[in-house]
Amino acid sequence: MHMKTTLIVAAALAVFSVASCRQSHSPESVTSGTADTIRQAWAIVIHGGAGDLAAENLTPETEMAYRTSLAAAIDTGKRILQQGGSALDAVERTIRTLEDNPLFNAGRGAVFTHDGKNELDASIMDGSSLMAGAVAAVTDIKNPISAARAVMEQSPHVMLSGAGASEFAREHRLEIVPPSYFFTDRRWNDLQEILKKEKHGTVGCCALDVRGNLAAGTSTGGMDNKRYNRIGDSPVIGAGTYARNQTCAVSCTGHGEFFIRYTVAHDVSALMEYRGMTLAAAADTVVQGKLKRAGGKGGLIGVDHQGNIVMTFNTKAMFRAWAVSKGSIGTAIFESK
Ligand code: ASP
Repeated sequence: MHMKTTLIVAAALAVFSVASCRQSHSPESVTSGTADTIRQAWAIVIHGGAGDLAAENLTPETEMAYRTSLAAAIDTGKRILQQGGSALDAVERTIRTLEDNPLFNAGRGAVFTHDGKNELDASIMDGSSLMAGAVAAVTDIKNPISAARAVMEQSPHVMLSGAGASEFAREHRLEIVPPSYFFTDRRWNDLQEILKKEKHGTVGCCALDVRGNLAAGTSTGGMDNKRYNRIGDSPVIGAGTYARNQTCAVSCTGHGEFFIRYTVAHDVSALMEYRGMTLAAAADTVVQGKLKRAGGKGGLIGVDHQGNIVMTFNTKAMFRAWAVSKGSIGTAIFESK
């Protein structure tokens, strides 16, 4: 039992409660509705990466920094959903705050490649239309999640990569930064020393808005020390990200090669669609079942079309936070059992 999970670490987090390895919350009021109907339920869940981080290796100060950042990010998305904003906006804006935060392996805090560079991947999917966008191996786009959304909404493509993706981002007036932007300060390097054996920090977000639309997004610097322009699951629709109004929205984190081979995000949706499973059962079947048996380490977050959420992982830790209309709100890092 990791007591850190139970610590209330700051006044700002006073209302936050404890999460177990997998949570599922039912909203109090969900009416059946189509995408055009205003419903009352909304839900949002985020992750900040999964890994075999031991509780004793996380100082109270670092834990507080992570929890405060997760709380701020979930608050961004929660406000958008509470005000009737779209799941897509909530996902994009929430992920942007995590990309701008050097604590996470996405955007500013992206890990370094074998050659000492930063190559970022991101994807986003709209569950109401099955439209999707992604960028891979980009080096100078400040917020890859926004570039992914631009690919979805302003191009006929699903995935752009490398220099071409940068050219597209420039043409669509997205913020371009010098590669040095991703070289973070000494404090971050100190943190890397402490955590260098831990691969975590990819960020993801899934949301259900009051119109019943689902969206999911994922953004990452990829695996530490990666080579040969390796691209993981995060920008691959169906592997790291998936959303479909009739089933669920899913964002994954972990050893990307496994998530691609097992098409993890889509598999959760497919189990719900074809087997009639609940989100919680489908997520467990994939993450604690076939993925774990294959040696694939990681986890996922998800929201279903009724506002139930899931956060499940087969590693020691997964940074995460959630907020559900008329329900609970919280942050958690380790398993509670
Ligand atoms: N899934 C990411 C990748 O393989 C890494 C992570 O989530 O930690 O690129």
